[in-house]
Amino acid sequence: MTIRENNLHVYNTLTRRREKFEPLSPPASADSPGEARLAARPRAAGPRVGMYVCGPTVYGDAHLGHAKSYISFDVIVRYLRYLGYDVTYVQNVTDVGHLTDDADAGEDKVEKAARAKKVHPMQIAEQFTRRYFEDMDALNVLRPDISPRASGHIVEQIEHVRKLIERGHAYEANGSVYFDVASWPKYGRLSGRSVDEMQAGARVESSAEKRHPADFALWKRAEPGHIMQWPSPWGMGYPGWHIECTVMGQKYLGETLDIHGGGIENQFPHHEDEIAQAEAASGKPFVKYWLHNNMVTVGGQKMGKSLGNFLTLRDAFEKWPPMVIRLFILQSHYRSPTDFSPEALEAARAGYERLAGAAAAIAKAATGAPDGDGDPKVAQLIQDARKRFAEAMDDDFNTPLALSALFDLARDSNRLVASGGLGKGSLEALAAALEELAGDVLGLRLKASAGGTADVGIAAAVVEIFIEMRAEARKAKDFKRADAIRDRLAEAGVLLEDTPDGTTWRIK
Ligand SMILES: [Zn+2]
Repeated sequence: MTIRENNLHVYNTLTRRREKFEPLSPPASADSPGEARLAARPRAAGPRVGMYVCGPTVYGDAHLGHAKSYISFDVIVRYLRYLGYDVTYVQNVTDVGHLTDDADAGEDKVEKAARAKKVHPMQIAEQFTRRYFEDMDALNVLRPDISPRASGHIVEQIEHVRKLIERGHAYEANGSVYFDVASWPKYGRLSGRSVDEMQAGARVESSAEKRHPADFALWKRAEPGHIMQWPSPWGMGYPGWHIECTVMGQKYLGETLDIHGGGIENQFPHHEDEIAQAEAASGKPFVKYWLHNNMVTVGGQKMGKSLGNFLTLRDAFEKWPPMVIRLFILQSHYRSPTDFSPEALEAARAGYERLAGAAAAIAKAATGAPDGDGDPKVAQLIQDARKRFAEAMDDDFNTPLALSALFDLARDSNRLVASGGLGKGSLEALAAALEELAGDVLGLRLKASAGGTADVGIAAAVVEIFIEMRAEARKAKDFKRADAIRDRLAEAGVLLEDTPDGTTWRIK
């Protein structure tokens, strides 16, 4: 498969520049097992892209902030695949080692949740991993190709830590192992912080075992009562949080990744540490393009678990269908904050209905439309929409602009469909364009109802039957019955509108 014509530029946090996207797509070589493994894959397609995104720490339900991150990267994967790239998407599941405190103090988040519920930490991890994927499925976020668990890669993490000690970039202290930032002059390059600044801001209590306050844990000694622990050359313990992403990213994608994504709040220390660990061991660049998504805010303040102002996706789904939430997220750029408010979600609901309504109107007109196509107005409309959409997406995945191209397509499509006389071929082309851009690339299911359950195709046919029954009742001057049909449909959420051209309907 060849690559679609494109001019994709991405904003690289590492260089702080907008850059043309050119994947490494290296020839497979024996000394880089990750690359050789990718080359051995049977799928024949366009150039390979290895993409890693920091996944969830599974100790509680995902909230709207997670939706922002994973929908953003889902659309990035979808667009790269749409362009013809053969993307291998790796997103980890953190089930051990993520402490409540960035300064290597605090408790393991999963263990803490397990203690509160008096169950094994793995039970917490399993429960919230499943719930995370269920929530993402509802949002039509494609599952990653590989979802490696930190606890399943302890051997590899120990091996990597051993290598860092061997190369003089890490040291052991009382059964814990720390990365020695003084041994790595590039430390701070991603976040733009200097090691001196870090020293000034560091907390005194966490640095007793560390040579420098900015040193970070690669391996932690297990304190008495710590359940998740494994034997290591330094005694019983567990991995630090940052090391898992370096190790699992390189295991499945090779020593240098094309894209590494994650939340902007993880740029420091998490991503800075990932780079140091990877490059100090391999001597090669870890990542070509660093992409960071911004956060969801509430009244300008970050939505977060620790702040207690978060809305879990499960609670949000009670009020707004998942596709409405997906559209809400896509209405802001991934590098811009998304400010949550019920009003903004209601606006997204109206936007979703405009798109779904256009798709439904096309489907309705297609039943019984005359054969034939070649309407030049339709062909031009689709061509213009595709071009605007691609230009927006090529500009660092500008989904708000891409959506405005789709809204215009929906409006113009409604006008053409309402004017009547479009052939089956033209209607099918319109439907296919909407499905391709809104569905395949932006991941918005338009055929299903906003709730994502009933099929609009069937629902539309049923509504049409009721409209016919109502028309027959009116013809027979049985207005009581006609009104009853209209009212019952309204109760079910379907609004009828009588126009000179007949009765149309929309979902409330
Ligand atoms: Zn990570």
